[in-house]
Amino acid sequence: MFLGHIRAPITWLCAQRFTKMRAPDSGCRSYLDANASEPLRPEARAAVIQTLDVVGNPSSVHAEGRHARQLLEDAREVLADCFGATASEMVFTSGGTEANSLAIAALCGERRAIVGITEHAAVRAAFSGPVHVLPVNGNGVADLGALETLLQGSPALVCLMAANNETGVLHPVAQVAQMCRAAGALLHVDAVQAAGRLPPGYWNAGDTVALSGHKLGGPLGAGALLAGPRAMPMLRPLIKGGGQERGRRGGTPALAPIAGFAAAASAAKPESAARLAPMRDEIENVARECGAVVVGGEAERLPNTTCLWLPGVKAETQVIALDLEGIAVSAGAACSSGKVGRSHVLEAMGLGDGAGEAIRVSLPWAANAEHVRAFVRAYRAVTSRLLRRAA
Ligand code: PLP
Repeated sequence: MFLGHIRAPITWLCAQRFTKMRAPDSGCRSYLDANASEPLRPEARAAVIQTLDVVGNPSSVHAEGRHARQLLEDAREVLADCFGATASEMVFTSGGTEANSLAIAALCGERRAIVGITEHAAVRAAFSGPVHVLPVNGNGVADLGALETLLQGSPALVCLMAANNETGVLHPVAQVAQMCRAAGALLHVDAVQAAGRLPPGYWNAGDTVALSGHKLGGPLGAGALLAGPRAMPMLRPLIKGGGQERGRRGGTPALAPIAGFAAAASAAKPESAARLAPMRDEIENVARECGAVVVGGEAERLPNTTCLWLPGVKAETQVIALDLEGIAVSAGAACSSGKVGRSHVLEAMGLGDGAGEAIRVSLPWAANAEHVRAFVRAYRAVTSRLLRRAA
């Protein structure tokens, strides 16, 4: 009732907002920014649409509530199966950022924190106190000699991502898990970029593992934290409320995004992600001919990701020039405001000024030869123009 007299202006505002900013015409563009967000998979879209009409709250005891609960638990089973976990090890969250925060807040406690230098902001910002920084080598891979030294002393929590979002470089998570177990340390793995692209053996060895639905072709709004037997009893809710997720995360779970997450995870076969590697290699060959350096090119990497450093040309300039040619890529160091700075990842790898001159190309699950041709055509044109101007 109170809102009645302002409903018309709100409707008008919404209409303005949604018509002013037209979605780009995907027919004439190549979206190569999958590490920011994967396009929705058709299986996920179908599951979301079907679940949107479900009536009932999964916590309600009546038939409608029990039906909603059944769908939620079915999704949990499917996801657990995809991720090499059990359903009781999974806590649903809104996405990867929340999953990282939930794990770190619970596990850190009195422990010394040892945090990979190339971690995503979602992990770095979850610490309020000082941390020990785990360095990487020139290829961006965690320095295990340094980890061995850092693990000596009082109990620690180690945070290491499975795959870097800017370079695609993989860390040896299984080996790190063994080192942590031997030293009595806990391990948290941010597997947001690795899940769905690599088999679970590459990334699920942590005491806790953070996952995100929209990074594997699900809708925005759903993610999960996997927590093993040591970690699960330590979890304390960051969002308090109705005791959902067995007291680990309050709030009514987002059933439709979760159903989409499960459908996307089932469809995201690491074998099919592997088909992206030859396309990624073709892009890198052309980029090298154009004067670019492939960052982390010697390391084991995600099949869909490449980080191209064009010495002397700002990343932002490259991203804008490619955008005008119909290609969507990102500067590794772009923050949520869209501003591009120097990448802490590339700085850690010793690129110096080059840390502000690299772009990330991340092929989506449905990438094809036409996307690659379009990128290569645009990249040749843009780099020759920008390098001439920089000379
Ligand atoms: N961790 C990594 C490695 C990421 O790349 C991202 C997003 O880019 C996140 C965490 C945050 O995930 P979400 O967007 O689901 O909150």
